[in-house]
Amino acid sequence: MSAETPTGTAWPVIRKDASTLAVLPHLADYDAERAAFSWDDARRALSGLPGGGLNIAHEAVDRHAAGPLAAREALRFVRADGSLESITYAGLADRVSRFAAVLRGLGVGRGERVFSLLGRRPELYAAVLGTLKAGSVFCPLFSAFGPDPVRQRLRLGSGRVLVTTRSLYRKKVAALRADLPDLQHVLLVDADGAPEPGTLDLAALLDTAEPLEAAAATRPGDYALLHFTSGTTGTPKGAQHVHEAVVAHWATGRFALDLHEDDVYWCTADPGWVTGTSYGIIAPLVHGVTAVVDEEELDVDRWYRILAEQRVTVWYTAPTALRMLMKAGAERAAGYDLSALRFVASVGEPLNPEVVLWGQESLGLPIHDNWWQTETGGIMIANYAAMDIRPGSMGKPLPGVEAAVLMRGPDDRPVLRDGEAVEVEHAGDVGELALRPGWPSMFRGYLNEEARYRKCFAGGWYLTGDLATRDDDGYFWFVGRGDDVIKSSGHLIGPFEVESALMEHPAVAEAGVIGVPDEVAGETVKAFVELRPGREPSSELRLDIIGFARRRLGAAVAPRDIEFVEALPHTRSGKVLRRLLKARELGLPEGDVSTLEARP
Ligand code: AMP
Repeated sequence: MSAETPTGTAWPVIRKDASTLAVLPHLADYDAERAAFSWDDARRALSGLPGGGLNIAHEAVDRHAAGPLAAREALRFVRADGSLESITYAGLADRVSRFAAVLRGLGVGRGERVFSLLGRRPELYAAVLGTLKAGSVFCPLFSAFGPDPVRQRLRLGSGRVLVTTRSLYRKKVAALRADLPDLQHVLLVDADGAPEPGTLDLAALLDTAEPLEAAAATRPGDYALLHFTSGTTGTPKGAQHVHEAVVAHWATGRFALDLHEDDVYWCTADPGWVTGTSYGIIAPLVHGVTAVVDEEELDVDRWYRILAEQRVTVWYTAPTALRMLMKAGAERAAGYDLSALRFVASVGEPLNPEVVLWGQESLGLPIHDNWWQTETGGIMIANYAAMDIRPGSMGKPLPGVEAAVLMRGPDDRPVLRDGEAVEVEHAGDVGELALRPGWPSMFRGYLNEEARYRKCFAGGWYLTGDLATRDDDGYFWFVGRGDDVIKSSGHLIGPFEVESALMEHPAVAEAGVIGVPDEVAGETVKAFVELRPGREPSSELRLDIIGFARRRLGAAVAPRDIEFVEALPHTRSGKVLRRLLKARELGLPEGDVSTLEARP
């Protein structure tokens, strides 16, 4: 049997039979598990705080450190030179409790925000969990961000504490301190006793701290994490998550990633993005597994070596990375013993069917695509170990999650009937992917932007901003974004943020930024630039503007390509018409642009 993608290509269905798998999956029968599941039962699988309440750090670390898993390896860091640093649950609990005590000592209160600008090193993991234990809110920043995104997020989030390294501090923060009045403490993880003006030596503070014994008595609805994400216009949006999210991390770790206690699990995402926090830190630790962390960036041989030498059993990665491995050729995997691997999942961008099948050929396992976003806090739609895979499909909603494809009106908003949103009429019709509110990891607000938050809900549903279809059998298929946001190498990039940085270049009058398809990265960022009067296009100027944007935004966000244009197209309200730029770039019909308005 084969299944058709929405574009009409047929791919063979990958059949699953739970009884033939090396480990019996937690979700052996999708329909039965879905019918039996309740979030209340999931809550009961966690221990809760001794005096009542719920705290992520307690569920992820403290309860294990106090029980039979104390000596188990919680985190295994693979350093640049390949050497390992292992931390047990008991050891992690000590580091976490010390970090929490340092915050208390500095007078950082419940709900106040602690930021990080750090690579994947042990101090980052202790800082995330220590902040949660202390009842403060953690906001991780991607360490490859340039100074502009760092300053903007620290300002928007009123960061009180920043944990970083000396060199990142000097390069990206020191010059901006005057602009960050709320930032009281900068903690350097590598101060080594040598003073750096305006900062504190974290190691020294940790050494002398008296570990905080009991976690703050947080309630399920108390804020825990802040993750910035990008929209089409305006500033980045700070999605606020609560301690109760841990219930969804537990359930999705169990059903979508099929984590079992003796797993060695590797999530390749950086905690600067939501996947790296929810599934690089919280979900594996809640399940008491060993989580591998690679301190380095993607390198084909290094990655195969880690999978083989660390005997990784469950691997959660991203389409861009898988496409890079695929491009490097199957023979690159040949010398490595990947026999420990039993489950591979991917998230963040569309996963092409070719890659799902490549997995089967090169790794001996298909890739299980799953879908979610910063706002959902956890996996919402997934392919499961024991469910047939239709390559190209995102799978089916998690137990406890209700998803729908809603009909959209001409204003791109859902069509309402009697106050309820209307689903598309037929299987296969394209509409907006929506989720019924009520799952525990749903974001509870955009920081200081109530109206923007409210706009995400209509007719009884949370609107994801993605376009999708559902087939006759309930599998969901991703069609595209409903807005202009760009996904490059799995990173969500707001075109407005890039346009704003470009417009600070003295030669640039205006810029329009779009994503253009890329075989490996999914999309890359391209800018159309209108120059100021008197400035002439040249290749030097092009390079100069690209360099300027990289210094401001960081290489992950800055445009890879710039094209000079005489005049940018605008909507009637004066906004750059990105959709038209994109249609022209791709040679697609320009459509009736007179009605187009950029979504806020
Ligand atoms: P972020 O909030 O940065 O995690 O990005 C979320 C967005 O990434 C979603 O709204 C989708 O547009 C895209 N995305 C995530 N997972 C998938 C997937 N499995 N297939 C297609 N797109 C995805």
